[in-house]
Amino acid sequence: MTVKEAYDKLIEEMRDTFILENVENMIEWDFETYMPTGGGKQRSKEFALLAGLVHDLYTSPTVGKLIKGLKSNPEYQALSFIEKRNVHLIEREYNNRTRLPKDLVEKIAEQSAISIQAWKKAKEKKDYSIFKPELDKTLALSKEKAHYLAPEKDPFDALLDEFEPSFTSEMIDKLFTELREGLIPIIKKCQSSSKQPDMSLINRNCSIDIQRKISEDVSRLVLYDLDRGRIDETEHPFTNGYYDDVRITTHYYENNFASSFYSVMHEAGHAIYEQNLDKQFIYQALGKSSSYGIHESQSRLIENLIGKSPEFWEHYLPKFKEITGDIFSDVDMDAFIHAINEVKPSKIRIEADEVTYSLHVIIRFEIEKDLLSGKITTEELPSVWNTKYKDYLGVDIENDSEGVMQDTHWASGLFGYFPSYALGNIYNGQMLNVIKKDLSYDDLIRKGDLKPIIDWLIEKVHKQSNLYDPLELIKKISGEEVNPKYFIAYLEEKFSKIYEY
Ligand code: ZN
Repeated sequence: MTVKEAYDKLIEEMRDTFILENVENMIEWDFETYMPTGGGKQRSKEFALLAGLVHDLYTSPTVGKLIKGLKSNPEYQALSFIEKRNVHLIEREYNNRTRLPKDLVEKIAEQSAISIQAWKKAKEKKDYSIFKPELDKTLALSKEKAHYLAPEKDPFDALLDEFEPSFTSEMIDKLFTELREGLIPIIKKCQSSSKQPDMSLINRNCSIDIQRKISEDVSRLVLYDLDRGRIDETEHPFTNGYYDDVRITTHYYENNFASSFYSVMHEAGHAIYEQNLDKQFIYQALGKSSSYGIHESQSRLIENLIGKSPEFWEHYLPKFKEITGDIFSDVDMDAFIHAINEVKPSKIRIEADEVTYSLHVIIRFEIEKDLLSGKITTEELPSVWNTKYKDYLGVDIENDSEGVMQDTHWASGLFGYFPSYALGNIYNGQMLNVIKKDLSYDDLIRKGDLKPIIDWLIEKVHKQSNLYDPLELIKKISGEEVNPKYFIAYLEEKFSKIYEY
């Protein structure tokens, strides 16, 4: 076999793995959207079976032999950069997954469905004690997974690698310290400004039917292709799928249109990334995003950098008034923009403003590290959470549903995931700095012509698929290492104008 033949054979061998992985995605979508509550137990078995099958495919001895054969082939270096990257990604996954016993992989998938259902019930009843026993099991399995993956590493670092390859908690600590030190003065200046927003402007009653129309309109505006996508309704918004079938969800509240408006923009930002992955890489290791943090940079760029900018509303407010009839017909542009951009420490991460948002993530990062290392127990978790919210954000948590149980991640066993959210902010600050040099960004947004900006993102990020790890991709785009200063500078410039400080 020539090296090229061996490479083609490996790619062909892996193909079904990626197809089956998306089957997993689709039954997960169903689990979160339309599955009857009673179906949880059955679904947990289906998740376990599929996770086991995917595990078998990733770790098959044939794959192992093909990788070994390729890497020891004297002609290996003759493969292209793209081909070698594909081999590298397959090998990385093979090595990670062969460290995990199959029954552990199955148990994790099964337990996650059970924990999610317990979490939903506990959250509804505001009763942490319903969730705690299942969380204990999920946490124990995650620790076990971390140990198998990298016994020499801190468990948090072992798990982090799945979400942000080549990062360590030490690097994140350093970035987050700089980020926090940049955010706190901005929060203080906004809070002490004499110019404060009138929030009654945006909390007007707006029917769900109207909000559904807005969702479709704004999806089109950001070029989310609804012929290859759809919008459904769930408690917590999410995106699922890739290439020609990428679905998003949202949640409508009659007295808070902004909640669904921005969740649709956010999820559409994720969706356009998946829809615009390079088609030549479909069913290959390369046919994925670079990392969760890069994904979050895209969703948050659409949601915040574009969707909450004064320029965006200069264009969109007239259209918005048209769709919503007489509900917002009397609102003043500046007052509206200020209300959209209220900076106020709050309890719920997904509803947080751009400035305080990262503090919610930093709290979770600190707690997760301690939870995984055993420094704190699940028994102490709610009180540790509440204390940190008081210290960092100055808010009092009255019940665990708006506290420690607000996110689904820990129920799903997604430990190590949270830093990606704030890294997304840091990344998109750096991207914005470059976009503004390449395009007349503000003018395009003012005109509502987002296509050149989305095309820029497609070219620089989406189409790059998984050709680069996040640190490399950021360097390739910005010419620099990861640096929070651009995101902080962006916030400072924007909010000093809005709050007139
Ligand atoms: Zn997101």
